[in-house]
Amino acid sequence: MRIKRPKSRKLFERAQITLPGGVNSPVRAFGSVGGSPLFIQRAHGCRIEDVDGNRYIDYVMSWGPLIHGHTPKELTRTLAQTVRQGTSFGAPTRLEIELGQRVRKMVPSIERVRLVNSGTEATMSAVRIARAVTGRDKIIKFAGCYHGHSDQFLVQAGSGATTLGIPTSPGVSRATAKNTLIGKYNDITSVERLCKRHSKSIAAIIVEPIAGNMGVVPPRPEFLESLRALCTRNKILLIFDEVISGFRVAKAGAQGTFNIKPDLTCLGKVIGGGLPVGAYGGRADLMDQVAPSGAVYQAGTLSGNPLAMAAGIWTLDQLSTDLYRHLNSLGTKLAAGLRSAAKKTNIAMQVNQVGSMLTPFFTANEVTDYESATASHTDAYAAFFQGMLDRGVYPPPSQFEAWFLSSAHTERDIAQTVQKAEEALKELHDKMKL
Ligand SMILES: *Cc1c(COP(=O)(O)O)cnc(C)c1O
Repeated sequence: MRIKRPKSRKLFERAQITLPGGVNSPVRAFGSVGGSPLFIQRAHGCRIEDVDGNRYIDYVMSWGPLIHGHTPKELTRTLAQTVRQGTSFGAPTRLEIELGQRVRKMVPSIERVRLVNSGTEATMSAVRIARAVTGRDKIIKFAGCYHGHSDQFLVQAGSGATTLGIPTSPGVSRATAKNTLIGKYNDITSVERLCKRHSKSIAAIIVEPIAGNMGVVPPRPEFLESLRALCTRNKILLIFDEVISGFRVAKAGAQGTFNIKPDLTCLGKVIGGGLPVGAYGGRADLMDQVAPSGAVYQAGTLSGNPLAMAAGIWTLDQLSTDLYRHLNSLGTKLAAGLRSAAKKTNIAMQVNQVGSMLTPFFTANEVTDYESATASHTDAYAAFFQGMLDRGVYPPPSQFEAWFLSSAHTERDIAQTVQKAEEALKELHDKMKL
């Protein structure tokens, strides 16, 4: 029954000699679920194949970018055509305008956009604009939201009376962490308190309008609206980090879904369709502060890379209302299937789902913020994950990540996944004596 993965195991051993922890991004190492990671050979549609020749239904989907599945034929063809013209010029191309125009058209709050290489670059650059135009140093972020790995975001709430943040990673200076204040997701009172205490020193509030990095946590209906009003009242810029939700939940992202207009928006993942692209944009008067039209410096050797642009253009061109309707229906079915599998096997589980992203949390209580998310039974998730992997399904190797669907997943794949989930949960129930 156990799927064998000797080649992956060997490669992981080899990798650890050369790469810290054997990987180039921490969650890939299976640290929180145990075992050694799959080394991937190839992937098509919703199926991914490891170096041992095992195939899995993929729900990681490169952590979100692949809304049309792995290696769509047309995209591969487009990339092959583009690469013949050259791989990088360090000079403007028509493709950058083409992608920029699509972003502007789909996300109305974005009047101008700067293309970068990652979500991390997008968020750190957006905050720089906010500091520049407000002349203030502090920002508010929310516990459990992730905005890439720049120093200012690797911060958690300080204890007790202090509202100032403390570093979550060695190497982040206390001076940097002090300028990051931590709010509680879905709790506007926590933000009002911070604003009162630091009234004239907050440049921006940055938020994932649909949280995806503590597992999927949707915003309460009034939360984003209240944030918008609070920012306007206090002359604070509202930054939506839509690196996951952008183009994932709708063409206009979460801001379109909830009809809230942020001042600045950060994009990533889907915008590059599997190639490295990030973007930040917003009101023209803000974006015009960016060099060379303004004084806020930000640059990139490979920014606007032609291959990445071609992938982004193709990916955005395939988005449609029908596609989102389809993805939403698949997401709803998978969530319902997981809930009923948990119920049948007597396992406490909450499934949070928004469109094509979802997370099954192993807990009996509703998950609305970081505290309730981290109350989940992570050992149960780890065992469930291994059970799924052994049955040919590849969920994210962490309780606190989103599962992603693509248009390449079919109803049959969903039904099969639910069937496997029921088996894995039953095994888990017997093993853990839940
Ligand atoms: C993935 C992610 C980032 C960082 O993007 P990278 O491309 O990994 O640098 C930032 N914000 C959110 C919400 C993300 O999910």
